[in-house]
Amino acid sequence: MVTSSDILPTEIAPTSAVAAESAASPAKVNLLGLPETKLVAFFESLGEKRFRAVQVMKWIHQLGADNFDAMTNVSKELRRKLQEVAEIRPPEVVKQLDSADGTRKFLIRVSGGNVIETVYIPEGDRGTLCVSSQVGCSLDCSFCATGKQGFNRDLTAAEIIGQVWIAAKSFNQLQPNAERSITNVVLMGMGEPLLNFDNVVDAMNLMMHDNCYGISKRRVTLSTSGVVPALDRLSQYTDACLAISLHAPNDELRNELVPINRKYPIAMLLDSAKRYIEAMPDTHRKITIEYTLIDQVNDRPHHAHELAELLRDVPVKINLIPFNPFNLSNYKRVSNNALRRFQDILMEAGYITTVRTTRGDDIDAACGQLAGAVNDITKRSERYRARFDEAQPVKIIAQ
Ligand code: SF4
Repeated sequence: MVTSSDILPTEIAPTSAVAAESAASPAKVNLLGLPETKLVAFFESLGEKRFRAVQVMKWIHQLGADNFDAMTNVSKELRRKLQEVAEIRPPEVVKQLDSADGTRKFLIRVSGGNVIETVYIPEGDRGTLCVSSQVGCSLDCSFCATGKQGFNRDLTAAEIIGQVWIAAKSFNQLQPNAERSITNVVLMGMGEPLLNFDNVVDAMNLMMHDNCYGISKRRVTLSTSGVVPALDRLSQYTDACLAISLHAPNDELRNELVPINRKYPIAMLLDSAKRYIEAMPDTHRKITIEYTLIDQVNDRPHHAHELAELLRDVPVKINLIPFNPFNLSNYKRVSNNALRRFQDILMEAGYITTVRTTRGDDIDAACGQLAGAVNDITKRSERYRARFDEAQPVKIIAQ
């Protein structure tokens, strides 16, 4: 079983639908997070036919129902029974923030009182929803605001798919013949998705299911910092796209930026990623390499050349992400010149290389700022802040 406290998982046992969802509600099963197989099992346990699962799935995920009364093609008797044993309980929106550039951020309260963030980013004919998989994160990447908050808990499948449900509803997408605002989903929000394997897989299945959101497998992307044993199993459960949070061209530097690299070094990670891609039924798939550029840390031309060499035999496209400064980090944003030079080197080496533009500045929605409202159970952010504050007088004296 993969847990966040053990980043060397040996077995990923499927959780039972009831066990997974009743953690949040001991009395009733939350149907929001049940993929088809589990929903069918649930209805069969009530002595009902399988087709009821499809009916209810459509009501929840295509029409946005959050109560059984609305389900007019379900018999009154069954609706009464469902009310006794089940519920449709999305997490609660605390705040919705809309940026002038169309970016929309949701602050969402999950059970236990913690707050997570979900961000919608429109771009041309695409609308990408960035979804969280955990409250906080245990992996503590040195450039990441979420990592500084520490880990609190895994999100349930209902809390993960609930973010899609909430966003889709906010755009009036859950109505007959509605236009689709959310065309893409990326699991790149708070948390490491592969450390919450079962719930993430269930939620991705719901995103892609024709009776739910029907998002193409080429438009759902799981991003991992490199939990290799879980990545090795992933192709048995999904054929979604894969992104690797690489951020460094060699192990020495990556050990500093992405500490999980000490356990699963780059070569091991890239081999696992290649195996995942090779297991996909469709050819020509590429892995997205995410590379956050930090001033004077990993943005030098020799880093770009080293990266180009490293990825020579891996089918990739590269996404460069200018580091977004935050107050618990001393890293600085890459300069425009260094960014352009880095991109040029990679493109000259033959790589499709894009730059992620910063969006939603006016609502703090950019990646790396997703930690603000998380409850910090481990108090890690306090420790970081203390260390950071201690460092300030030294800096002032030196000036
Ligand atoms: S970058 Fe991702 S894996 Fe690393 S600390 Fe942040 S949320 Fe966790």
